[in-house]
Order: sequence, then structure tokens, then C-alpha cells
Amino acid sequence: MEAMIKRRKTVPVRIGDVTVGGDAPVAVQSMTNTDTADALRTAIQTAELAQAGSELVRITVNTEEAARAVPEIRERLDQMNVSVPLVGDFHFNGHKLLTKYPECAEALAKYRINPGNVGRGKKRDEQFAQMIEFACRYDKPVRIGVNWGSMDQELLARKLDENAKLAEPRSLDEINHDALIQSALESAAKAEELGLAHDHIILSCKMSGVQDLISVYQDLAGQCDYPLHLGLTEAGMGSKGIVASTAALAVLLQQGIGDTIRISLTPEPGSPRTQEVIVAQEILQTMGLRSFTPMVISCPGCGRTTSDYFQKLAEDIQGYLRAQMPEWRDQFPGVESMNVAVMGCVVNGPGESKHANIGISLPGSGERPVAPVYIDGEKDVTLKGEHIADEFKEIINDYIRRTYG
Ligand code: SF4
Repeated sequence: MEAMIKRRKTVPVRIGDVTVGGDAPVAVQSMTNTDTADALRTAIQTAELAQAGSELVRITVNTEEAARAVPEIRERLDQMNVSVPLVGDFHFNGHKLLTKYPECAEALAKYRINPGNVGRGKKRDEQFAQMIEFACRYDKPVRIGVNWGSMDQELLARKLDENAKLAEPRSLDEINHDALIQSALESAAKAEELGLAHDHIILSCKMSGVQDLISVYQDLAGQCDYPLHLGLTEAGMGSKGIVASTAALAVLLQQGIGDTIRISLTPEPGSPRTQEVIVAQEILQTMGLRSFTPMVISCPGCGRTTSDYFQKLAEDIQGYLRAQMPEWRDQFPGVESMNVAVMGCVVNGPGESKHANIGISLPGSGERPVAPVYIDGEKDVTLKGEHIADEFKEIINDYIRRTYG
């Protein structure tokens, strides 16, 4: 079901070929974890993230070697026909790197500046101004990305002093929230004073607590029309990271807040970096905001599914659908909204299958060893024997050719 969500009105920002904000759909982004100085590995991982569906990819630009590698990364991606815009993540020395490596400044499609990490004291304003001047010179949009873990300490200290003088001081959490928002808005206003266009600014105020993030973004959204980048920072590993990110982002997205999202998962050892892209897409797709890949609807299984055949089939089919998408995306427009039901037995199987484009109900224990397949709500065929998975995939392929070809 498509979501009927009224999105917050924002100014559209162009980042390469991608638009964030305005009427554009919520964009998915991700970040590499390779050493940026290793141009080849970074280009390969960026291409993998883009192939998985990341519409913007951020790379850290933390050293001279990294800044030097950025044009090569862009070139390698272009050679691979990967046009995904690259976002440069700068902290502490961004002003120096952009000055010394103009090709890096040129090759990036957007700069991310964290106002808490541009310098201390007087240098802070100078260095921030230098970075904004580069953004103006090369016509690049900027994300002013405030982060709870690296907040502007001078601003926070000032706010704490002011608070201490109040007859009824506010809580530390409230002060922190205000400081984050103020840091983002004041930096954006400063950037505009320095000449950066209003439609070249995206804001984020990332926090690691679900309730904190929701509350800060609700306030921030009411105070500006810049597009907002959403993400629960340091979300954590595995199911905890996924659940916490989903809990926070779903509430905000449902309120129409958020123009681009990133899921900051700590990868489990050996798991692919693309997992964060898949989770971001699944949040948007299950909420009915966008469609990226055909989805498998499957039951949890129970005592009626005594073997793991059904779980394997559900996993196999979802993996197959996802793997085919890069090829199908252009060939079969609309296929991304398709639903496929893979059900453990006939108790709920046929019913669920009738609601999906295609559905299969495997034989539960004690049932006849046959698997009825439904297509567009009608029973089409009954599969049996050793090759149910392959035959079912062929039915899916045939359906896609006929329906979306
Ligand atoms: S559809 Fe069948 S196997 Fe799946 S949970 Fe329901 S009863 Fe169990």
C-alpha cells in the first residue's frame, strides 16, 4: 500500500544528477569504510554500494593521500559507468585539503562539513569560511552535519552558562538539543552570508538515541526549509542497529520529515557494506514511500514446517530477486513494486498468495508433497518434486517478462 504522507516542504538541492528535497523521493545514501587513499578499493566499494541502490556515496577525506585519491576514484567510477555522486566528508583539515587539492574539490559532488570539527576559537570561523568559499567556487552543495558526538563545545559551554543563570534551569538534554539545532542553523546562515545559495544546503543533526533524534528533528524541521538528512548515528550492530534506526526514522518519515537517509550500521565481521543500503531501502519500501526491489512476503514458519526447506526457499527467492534488480531495473520498469509470497503451508499460504503478484505455499508436515502457485490471485499450477525452487524462479521470470516487459 502506498503511503499517504504529506512531506515537509523543502527547497530542492541538486547533487550531481540527484535531487534531494523538494518533490524528489527520499534518497538513500551510504558511506564507504575503505581507506580513501586506496583509490581502487574505494572505487570498487563505491560501485558496489551504488549497484545495491545507494544514490549518494560519502567517502572520508581525512588526509593528503585521501584528497589526492579522490579524482582517481571519480575517474575509475566513470570508467565503470557508475555515475553516483561522491560526497566528501571533512573534519579538522578540510580547508587545507581543499586548498591544496583543487582537483579533489572539483571531483566531489558535495561537501559534508561538521561545524563541531572545523577548528577551535577564531580559527573555527576562518576555516569554515574557507570551506564554504570552495563550495561557492566549485558550485557544490554542502551538508552541514552536526553530530552529537562532536558538538561545538564553545557553543555548548555558552548555552550551559546561560542556562545556569536562569531561575528555572532547563535539563541538560534540552540544552544539548538546542545547541545541536542552533549549531546547524547558525552555520547554515553563516554559509549563506558567505555566498552559498540557499538551495545548496542540507542539514543534519545526528544523535545516537532514538527519542533524542526524533525530538531534535521535529524541532529542526519546524525552523527551516532546508532538506534534512536523517540518520541515527552510531546505531550499532546487527538487529539492534537495524531496529533502532528503523524506530527513529520511521517516526520522522511518517511525519513527512527527512529527504535523504543513511543507516549507520556497524558491519558484522564479514558482512557486506551494502547491508546499510538494503536496510535503508527496506525501511522506505515497507513504509510504502518508495519501491526498490521485489519483496518476499513470508510467514515465520511453525510446527507445521519441520524442515528448513521453506526458510531456504524464502531466502533464495529474496536473494535472487535482489541480485536480478540491476539488470531488471531498466529492462522491466515497475518490477520493483512486485510482491512474491513464499509461505510455509496451506493454512495461510493461499490467502497470502492471492494478495501477492505470485505466491507459493510449500507443503507443511503431514500435507500432500505439493506446492500450489498463485498468479495474480488465481491458482495457476501445482509444483512437486525436487526442483520446486528452480521451477518457481522460472515462473517469476516469465511473469516479469509478460507483465513489465
Ligand atoms: S502459514 Fe503455515 S507454516 Fe506458516 S506460520 Fe502459518 S501455519 Fe505455520
